[in-house]
Amino acid sequence: ASTLTIKDLNVSIDDKEILKGVNININGGEIHAVMGPNGTGKSTLASAIMGHPRYQVTSGSIMLDGQDVLDMEVDERAKAGLFSAMQYPSEISGVTNAEFLRTAINARREEGKEISLMKFIKQMDKQMELLEMDPNMAQRYLNEGFSGGEKKRNEILQLLMLKPKFAILDEIDSGLDIDALKVVSKGINEMRGSDFGCLIITHYQRLLNYITPDFVHVMMQGRIVKSGGPELAQRLEAEGYDWVKEELGIED
Ligand code: ADP
Ligand code: MG
Ligand code: MG
Repeated sequence: ASTLTIKDLNVSIDDKEILKGVNININGGEIHAVMGPNGTGKSTLASAIMGHPRYQVTSGSIMLDGQDVLDMEVDERAKAGLFSAMQYPSEISGVTNAEFLRTAINARREEGKEISLMKFIKQMDKQMELLEMDPNMAQRYLNEGFSGGEKKRNEILQLLMLKPKFAILDEIDSGLDIDALKVVSKGINEMRGSDFGCLIITHYQRLLNYITPDFVHVMMQGRIVKSGGPELAQRLEAEGYDWVKEELGIED
């Protein structure tokens, strides 16, 4: 199985230190959840993994199967098997969702090994059905006028079609009603398997009622301060974050 290893990661934005030594190791087959109060650096972690130019990695490393991710351009990270919705443009006029997806799949393949149109359509139909998406969504322009829920479903459609080694899903649950949440969870669970690892970043525990993580990490003030199993998420839901702060002597 593949491994994504984040070691002692320090990240700054505009010379302000946000991440202060983050360590996470994700093996293929594992789902990790990162939870934490607002403003603690969860999205910064996602952006740094994906190579967002604004986030400067000042020290530490990110390795994917022994390859140095920090040496890779954004598109090389995608090609190496890292997925995040933020890799993709939010809207492109004149390009349909289907065209966009097929191009993205082929960009990750070697020349001469492009997916056939028939095979692509068959797969896309199947995954859209699983996600209970309106078939019209395939022919609409990417994200143009998509509702919040449609955008999130479309993110999961991209995930199911691109089949990355690792996915970083930041607040995939935000703004979803319960039905959309179930469908999004179904899509992520569909990906589960020894050749897929996932980092789910969420402020709330409710997504984790549908996707049982193998590991839960609590992030505070730019560090992972506590790790455990799914029961940790349940305790956070019931009791909030104060007990973690007290336990660790963290002040606001
Ligand atoms: P979380 O996702 O846990 O809510 P973020 O990673 O978004 O936290 O933010 C962590 C800290 O970094 C916050 O103090 C936030 O204000 C700051 N920050 C995040 N993004 C930027 C940015 N683009 N420019 C300046 N500061 C930022
Ligand atoms: Mg935030
Ligand atoms: Mg965030």
